[in-house]
Amino acid sequence: MESEYQSFIKALRAGKKPEFSPDSKSIDYARKLDAQDKLRALRNNFNIPSRRSLRTRALDGSTPGTVAAFPPRECHADFALGAVSHQTSSNGKTVDDDRPSIYFVGNSLGAQPKCIRQYLDAQLEAWASIGVNGHFTSLDNSPLTAWQDMAADCAQKSVDLVGAASPSEVIYMNTLTVNLHLMMASFYRPTAKRHKIIAEWKPFPSDSYAISSQLQWHGLSPSTSLIEIQPEPDTLYIPTERILSIIDEHADSTALLLLPGIQYYTGQLFNIPLITAHARRHGITVGWDLAHAVGNVELALHEWGVDFAVWCTYKYLNAGPGAIAGCFVHERHHHHLNDSKVVNGGVEGKRGEYVPRLAGWYGADKAVRFNMEKEFVPAAGAHGWQVSNPSAMDLACVGAALSVFGQTRMAELREKGMVLTGYLEWLLKGLLEEEEGQEPAFRIITPASPLERGSQLSLLLRSGLLQKVSEWLAEAGVVVDVRKPDVVRVTPVPMYCEFEDVWEFIDVFRRALKEAQ
Ligand SMILES: *Cc1c(COP(=O)(O)O)cnc(C)c1O
Repeated sequence: MESEYQSFIKALRAGKKPEFSPDSKSIDYARKLDAQDKLRALRNNFNIPSRRSLRTRALDGSTPGTVAAFPPRECHADFALGAVSHQTSSNGKTVDDDRPSIYFVGNSLGAQPKCIRQYLDAQLEAWASIGVNGHFTSLDNSPLTAWQDMAADCAQKSVDLVGAASPSEVIYMNTLTVNLHLMMASFYRPTAKRHKIIAEWKPFPSDSYAISSQLQWHGLSPSTSLIEIQPEPDTLYIPTERILSIIDEHADSTALLLLPGIQYYTGQLFNIPLITAHARRHGITVGWDLAHAVGNVELALHEWGVDFAVWCTYKYLNAGPGAIAGCFVHERHHHHLNDSKVVNGGVEGKRGEYVPRLAGWYGADKAVRFNMEKEFVPAAGAHGWQVSNPSAMDLACVGAALSVFGQTRMAELREKGMVLTGYLEWLLKGLLEEEEGQEPAFRIITPASPLERGSQLSLLLRSGLLQKVSEWLAEAGVVVDVRKPDVVRVTPVPMYCEFEDVWEFIDVFRRALKEAQ
């Protein structure tokens, strides 16, 4: 017989939302879904902060999740049922302290893959053992390649994640905002006629600063060259038709469309293929900031014709704070400018006439990089945008984090994510129904369609509740992301979060709202 979990997936594939049954509000139901979840074991790859470890003020050499592992969840049925979990608030210490927290903040900093330590140890051993030769030598029994090849190795591991045609469309280098600047240096080259950038109303601040400073760098002003797409005033939703019509309106004067795959504040997932194709038909270059989309939703950047994309690796990819970021450059930009044929790589064309870029020696073709020649011959594809010798330590973390994605496929993670977030939404709606008659304590500002969002739900709280609610959640071992003045972003990441986590979050959140009102 088909499990309930499978029937949700089937409904989602047919474009319907999962309908949860009346008994879905019980913890047994959440546990049943966990038992039916094929991807459940992926969680074992992660060190999830425990309630105790979250209060750590001094290191003691232990890592949560490595010491005697977590006691099995079943031992804690009473706590999970909410019978005692709120007792933690008075003295901050109870027997359930060593349970993993409800870590719903993978949209901000992903949990730590256990294999990171192994990769870092391998790197330390390689460096200590063979020193400078580590640049060119791959050691047996190591999960790593020679340092020279690590960025390319990470690109290879990302082909499915971003939907690249080949690893040459992907490179890991720098950090997200730096890559955004490097990409804009190449792909935002305003002319008197085409000088505008179309963006949305509330880009992540770093993206806003990058856009404004690029405009100023070119002697332009945001007041004349920046078009901001506004959302619906009450829901903050941006209809696709509005994006398309703004593109039409500014078609002849726009040089670049730069949008987030998922809007960080509302969690809205944009229709990347439709919007990209529409803008490109008007001759507009299209770049996407995929900070909240990579590792969260399925992407097919090559097929969709995206010109360039950038993303960080510390959110859904779990590579650690500030880890080296990713960048995609479509194959159509790889070839020599005077060569109409797409050559996958630069070295075949004439010298010096590739897409202009801010270059550095690591962007030079690997075959000639160490010849130390004065003339720049770029490496194939996106790899030709590298600037500096990257941190091998840092790339070890990215490689480790990507290896966990290698245990599954993005399509499967996405399906679980849709059911998991659908369950969260369902139970949240149940909470609102319990409140009958009052002004609702919160509103979900993330689109209701699973196809227009990733794992994150953004809850806009009634004014004045945020402080108390977030304190209560923190004390109960729930980690979510709080955006002042009134938004809580709640993100059950399918890679390591469970249906029981969702159930327990609701249990705590219900009490937090009661306490705060
Ligand atoms: C997280 C995030 C960033 C962070 O940029 P860094 O350069 O990695 O510090 C930038 N833009 C968006 C949209 C983000 O979500």
